[in-house]
Amino acid sequence: MSTNGSVFDRARALFLHYAEPLDLERRYPGLELHKRLTSPDKIIAVRLSLQKDDGTIRVYDAFRVQFNDDLGPYKGGLRFHPQVTLDEVQALAFWMYIKTAVVNIPFGGAKGGITVDYKSLSLAEKERLTKKFAIVLANDIGENTDIPAPDVNTGPREMAWMSHAWRMTRGRYHRGMVTGKPLHLGGSEGRVEATGHGCATTLLEAARDQGVDPHGAKLVVQGFGNAGRYAAVELAKRGAKLIIASDSRAAIHNPDGLDVDALIAFKDRTGSVAGFPGSRPIDPGEVFVAPCDFLVPAALEDCITAEIAPKIQAKIIAEAANGPTTQDAVHILFKRGITVVPDVLANAGGVTVSYFEWVQNRQEYYWTRDEVIDRMNARLANAYRQIADRAKEEKTSLRQAAYQCAIERVVRAALERGAQ
Ligand code: GLU
Repeated sequence: MSTNGSVFDRARALFLHYAEPLDLERRYPGLELHKRLTSPDKIIAVRLSLQKDDGTIRVYDAFRVQFNDDLGPYKGGLRFHPQVTLDEVQALAFWMYIKTAVVNIPFGGAKGGITVDYKSLSLAEKERLTKKFAIVLANDIGENTDIPAPDVNTGPREMAWMSHAWRMTRGRYHRGMVTGKPLHLGGSEGRVEATGHGCATTLLEAARDQGVDPHGAKLVVQGFGNAGRYAAVELAKRGAKLIIASDSRAAIHNPDGLDVDALIAFKDRTGSVAGFPGSRPIDPGEVFVAPCDFLVPAALEDCITAEIAPKIQAKIIAEAANGPTTQDAVHILFKRGITVVPDVLANAGGVTVSYFEWVQNRQEYYWTRDEVIDRMNARLANAYRQIADRAKEEKTSLRQAAYQCAIERVVRAALERGAQ
């Protein structure tokens, strides 16, 4: 959703920067590994026409990018947003395969989206558009090929529609063809909260490493959507104080701490954090630079820029959003010694529980919420430990170490499978 240049080009440049120490082209000459790892396997671009409730027709661009499946079927969410572009979807699909490799789950990476002001559609229009997308993609997605999931502006409702439309088109149940479904339609306990919960888990691991006590720690959440709110819930349980929360419409502040549960109920009722009782509105520009201990960017890409990075006062940043920090800002934060738990780890709780949902669907045997959450936490804590140890050993950032671990896993699989 960047306005300045190609987000995919920047994602690619960042990848090549992180791949440098692995020296892939010299170690494995003649295999074009860099090109292979930084260009998508398949790009699906379609036109979706939607009949509006008033009988008129609207036409939307829609995409699914299947980036890499060296480690398993393509996996990744669907984003319905006016700023969706093919460029952005490619970058997001790219990050997805890094993310699945970081947490070591047997999936590749993909992403999809529709360029649409989804929130402005009626419920019936939303359903028709989502189902149309599932029908158009029916031959390209499936539980052993490519498994969509929620992302920005999509959730269990959309996944239920996707699953139903796919079944009508293909004439059979394959519950695992999409994850993030409602519970009674084969969804998993804990999936809705998973991204935010996992973000809190990795942030708390980093806090322990840094000797920062979460109790009484000041928390700022930029983007109080699905990921941001559940990160706040878990961190508040550990005693952190949410002092600032923002969304696309407003930013609010309460130095004594915002009541997280009440704020969630308020936002569900009114559609925004704006006007939450006991808070005062602040300029959105103040959100990132406010004095705090924990900062959770949980909205869109490229929000923490080189202008903002020098002013950030947080001790630890955990990226619940995908790609919230620009490359220049990444380097500035590293030089300033601010710990950043990178997106490919910090928001991997979502796809990790998607993996658990897929496993449960294949067995038609369902786990309790505690089982899901314990397994997710164990996997994320384990991934964090591995990455943090490597970062310490090689005196580098968590992001650099995470990319190196992921690239090594994918390269090993690619080489073992054969270069063709
Ligand atoms: N859209 C989420 C992400 O960016 C979840 C993807 C999934 O569950 O497959 O990680």
